[in-house]
Order: sequence, then structure tokens, then C-alpha cells
Amino acid sequence: MKYIDEFRDGAIARQLGERIHAEAHPDRVYRFMEFCGGHTHALSRYGVTELLPPQVQMIHGPGCPVCVLPIGRIDLAIRLALERGAIVCTYGDTMRVPASDGLSLIKAKARGGDIRMVYSAADALKTAQAHPDREVVFFAIGFETTTPPTALVVQQAERLGVKNFSVLCCHVLTPAAVTHILAAPDAEQHGKVELDGFIGPAHVSIVIGSDPYVPFAEGWHKPVVIAGFEPLDVMQAILMLVRQVNEGRAEVENEFTRAVTPKGNVAAQKVMDEVFEVRDSFEWRGLGVVPHSALKLRERYAAFDAERRFDLHYQPVPDHKACECGAILRGVKRPTDCKLFGNVCTPDNPVGSCMVSSEGACAAHYSYGRFRDIPIVPAAPQARAA
Ligand code: SF4
Repeated sequence: MKYIDEFRDGAIARQLGERIHAEAHPDRVYRFMEFCGGHTHALSRYGVTELLPPQVQMIHGPGCPVCVLPIGRIDLAIRLALERGAIVCTYGDTMRVPASDGLSLIKAKARGGDIRMVYSAADALKTAQAHPDREVVFFAIGFETTTPPTALVVQQAERLGVKNFSVLCCHVLTPAAVTHILAAPDAEQHGKVELDGFIGPAHVSIVIGSDPYVPFAEGWHKPVVIAGFEPLDVMQAILMLVRQVNEGRAEVENEFTRAVTPKGNVAAQKVMDEVFEVRDSFEWRGLGVVPHSALKLRERYAAFDAERRFDLHYQPVPDHKACECGAILRGVKRPTDCKLFGNVCTPDNPVGSCMVSSEGACAAHYSYGRFRDIPIVPAAPQARAA
């Protein structure tokens, strides 16, 4: 398949693995955070971590949009459906994220809430047009990748004069989260992971460009290499990071030149800026309250803001006591550090958000990596004979 197989070539992957082995100094540890859940998925799915030397460690970051959605925000959406009679539309994975009282959006739907899975913000607007007698709320989540379509749909709703449509805006911002991880203001309480560099997100960077990462290279002296989601993209990025560390450089490099430019998609940034403004603070699952890290609708579009329209008030809700999602999203722990992993908590029955989406660290490790943790035991002679 043109332009897919080229980035999954096993022979080239082995060569890249050998280069990383050759260039990574055996007497030091390299800790790189893949911020984005898409990279976490690629690392697990294609067995990239098996090709790395032990001193090159990949640390999952908080870049899976459903993983970082706090319980309190899902509760707001559930209440809109169950108590206010609204039709709530959202993306598929969001439906399964555990919320308060043993509920999730999909369980609330089973209790009679009119909650619908949509593939796009535009589908939510079509639902509003099809049901002019009902309030329709689009539960909008995601990083800078999914934000421009939400902005366009709000503008379209205004142009078309759709009066029964609003957005529960939970769009979050990547650079603010990276800054928060580096600053680790609550490190004493929650621990801090030492990082030597970042693999920069692919799709987010198509929108925002590579320039917003410059402060992490210049101010924090952390190399950033933006990479695509194919296995060879990720391996090439790891090699580029190892080289930067070896040479004492901290620069923003772009492995994903086929899609990312320094300035990004200026038209998408413009429409985002027209519709949204930055919130003073926003709670992330795992990271806590992060200043200037999320968006809300501007005053001009107040009529489409579900928080104002329904007078919603956010209430923080703690995670399940035994769930380690928070520490995993901060990069401090790994999925297997959670005692619920793979027994109580599975993709069919997620207890925490990291087990919901295929981009979540726990789901990725459950699907592709957990067999690595099981020691290989040679078969008994009689079993071999049979
Ligand atoms: S295994 Fe489940 S409960 Fe444990 S950290 Fe992962 S998602 Fe949370």
C-alpha cells in the first residue's frame, strides 16, 4: 500500500533499531516522553519497544484525549441528558469513560438518557436540525486536532440560525500540559519523572505547527522531535532524540515534514481563535488543575455555550481509589504498577480512563504488551510429546 507499507518496513525498522543500539551510550539512561496517545499505541502495537536498548526508556504522557477528561466533566454531560432532557452527542470512546455513581455516558444511555455517538461535530449539528423541539449538546473533547471542527460548527450553527444547539467545551491545549509536566508544581506530593526529551504529537502539530515547542527546547533544554504515527516515524524520532542528547543539543526537530510546518495550519488557528478563548484554569485527570490549558467559547458565541445556557457548575470528583491513571498520565507509573490492571480493569470493563481508548496507556499495554510481562516457561517433556 503506497505510503503506508513504506513506514512499516521490518528490515528498515531493524536497521533503525541497530542504529539506536549503536548510538545510545550504555552508561546512561535516556527517558523520552511520547506525549501523544497515538504514539503510545504505535509503540505497543508494532513492538517498537522490543527493538530499543534497555537504557532507552519510553514514558507515556497525557496525550490521550479521553484519558485526561476528568470525572466531573463527564458528570456534567450525564446530568444534561438525565436531568435536563437534552440530547447529548459525543465521540465513541468518550461514551465508555467511567464517571460518578458507577455511571458512564453509555450506562446513562441505558438508564434512558438520550446520548448519541457521533463521528463529527457536524453530525451533532445535524441532530439539532433534525430535532428543533429538543436541546442538543455536543460534548466536545480533544486537543488542538478536534478543536477547529468544533469551532467551524459553532459558526455554522450561528449562520444557519440553529437555536437548540450548544457545546459543552472540554477542548484542551498541548503546550500548557507539557509546561505543567516540566514544571511539576506538585512534585513533592506526586513525584516527578526526569525527562530527556519529548516525541511531539503528530496531528496536533499539523494544526499548531512546530514553533510552539521552541520554549521547551530553549527554556527547559528539552529536545523535541515531532513524529508521525507509523512505527518507522517513531523509531526515527527516537534516534534523533538520542543524537540530540548525545550532542548536548536541545532543539525542535521535525521528523513529520510530510505534514507539519513551523507555523501549522493558520486557517484552522484563525477559526479556533475566533470562536474560543483560553480558560484561566481547567482540571485534567492526572495533572490536576492546569492554568491556561483549555478553551471556552467567547462571549460572542455565548448562546452556543452549554455551560452558560444550562447554568452548569463544575464539581471536581476524585478518581477510583485504587486507580493509578493519574500517576500514569504524569509519567510517574506504568500500567502494570496498578493492581487492578488486567484483572478488575480490562478494556471490556474499564475502571479508569487509561483502559478505555486504544490510545490509553493501559489499553495499549493490555492489547499488545502484557504478554511480555509473563516469564517464558519451557513446556514439560510430556506436554511437548503430546
Ligand atoms: S489498570 Fe485501570 S484502574 Fe489501573 S491505572 Fe489503568 S485504567 Fe486506571
